Amino acid sequence: MSASNRPVRVRFAPSPTGYLHVGGARTAIYNYFFAKAMKGTFYLRIEDTDRKRYNEEALHDLLRDLRWLGLQWDEGPDCEGDVGPYFQSERLDIYAREIKKLLDSGNAYYCFCTEERLQEVRAAQEKSGAVVTGYDRHCRNIPREEAEERIARGEKAVIRFKVPETGITGFDDLIRGHIEYQNELLDDLVLIKRDQYPTYHFASVVDDHLMGTSHVLRGDEWISSTPKHVLLYKAFGWEPPVFCHLPVILAAGGGKLSKRKGAASVGDFRDLGFLPETLVNFLALLGWNPGDDREVMTIQEMIDVFTLERINPKAVAFDEKKLQWMNGQHIHQADEKFLADYMVKGLEAIEIKTSSFSEDYILAVVKLLKNRAHFLTDLPIMASYFFTTPKTFDEKAKTKNWGAGSRAIAQSVRKALEPLTEFNASSIEQAFHALAESSGLRLGDLVGAVRLAVSGVSAGPGLWEIFELVGKQNVLSRILDAEPLMEP
Ligand code: GLU
Repeated sequence: MSASNRPVRVRFAPSPTGYLHVGGARTAIYNYFFAKAMKGTFYLRIEDTDRKRYNEEALHDLLRDLRWLGLQWDEGPDCEGDVGPYFQSERLDIYAREIKKLLDSGNAYYCFCTEERLQEVRAAQEKSGAVVTGYDRHCRNIPREEAEERIARGEKAVIRFKVPETGITGFDDLIRGHIEYQNELLDDLVLIKRDQYPTYHFASVVDDHLMGTSHVLRGDEWISSTPKHVLLYKAFGWEPPVFCHLPVILAAGGGKLSKRKGAASVGDFRDLGFLPETLVNFLALLGWNPGDDREVMTIQEMIDVFTLERINPKAVAFDEKKLQWMNGQHIHQADEKFLADYMVKGLEAIEIKTSSFSEDYILAVVKLLKNRAHFLTDLPIMASYFFTTPKTFDEKAKTKNWGAGSRAIAQSVRKALEPLTEFNASSIEQAFHALAESSGLRLGDLVGAVRLAVSGVSAGPGLWEIFELVGKQNVLSRILDAEPLMEP
């Protein structure tokens, strides 16, 4: 059965060496979407064979971030399937068994060259301006028995792939089309290192085959590795998976997206107050479209129409403005209970107590604020005056809204509100209109002066709704307390 007809089994195969970059997250998203759209399997394989770069904390953060994004794997760490282990470092016996096959068939050989010798070869090649660089195949023809005797005597060796010296290796990339490489430009790459761990190339091919991977969806940076992988599949006599290399994500101003240019990891965006739904939606649309002009979509809506064919081969730029806009849209649609919990946690963190307020009150605050938030982190900041009397007043707003006459305005507002028996948005609105009419003052001036007194800021939701929630007694006392500050 050719790979394209096999049941869909795709993988995300991160190396736990650092944070989960948004590029990696997008690769995981496309794999996840494709598996779900095709009713296939999404598995997570931890590529931890580079022991020098392995980082325990990175592994922990990686699993946390993938779960936070909602990309739960069907098989992988903490949920073993039939083809485990899912950590490459636990599969060394498998690699030892498989490399033996390549040694036996003459497709691999031991190489004893020292690091110094390899450096000398490189330096000489650079000096002579050689077109074909890389390992000079010095050990390629050492007979197997001789090599094994040397190893038995304690010499250290790597195992290299015997790459054909001539010919062309091609493959069809689902996004990029047919790609060909000349074999003479490929190195006799290392398959097993001196520490007995496999290299990425070897482990990746062995595992993709043995773990039943039907499609390899990964970043464009792996495209030049693919001919090496194709040759390895051939040497084993295995059918390669379908390859699909995803376009690079560029920073807004060009170049690679990196921490130096701002937020680049999933964790950064979480801390900045982005919803996971936003990040998944936004990253999915970087290089893919649903076939119509929809932009704000739920994960399920995207899965319903996801196809690999609509991934664009061109590099795409990361537009942070758009991401922010999209976050606002997702916050408007988010579960209000979730937003309330986030807001309460944020308020507690800045030592504003919420325990004396009812759940209904907290939800009412969320309802009032959520359409104005671009970040989750905006919620506790915007909500503070619903839970405590403002301690400071925005300086700019003070200059604009307070001055000669403000005190009289504030007093007249208090007088207009005091008699209200029902203190709700509509009765408050009526009282303000009546006051504007009878006093000849502009509604905007009345609102401006007391909004600042009650909330400490000049912008926010409708004043009538704010006043209703804050409550009559609080509104009146906050205005009264602010009055001495209103005039110079
Ligand atoms: N471990 C590789 C990485 O960190 C995986 C590349 C692949 O998907 O083959 O990106």
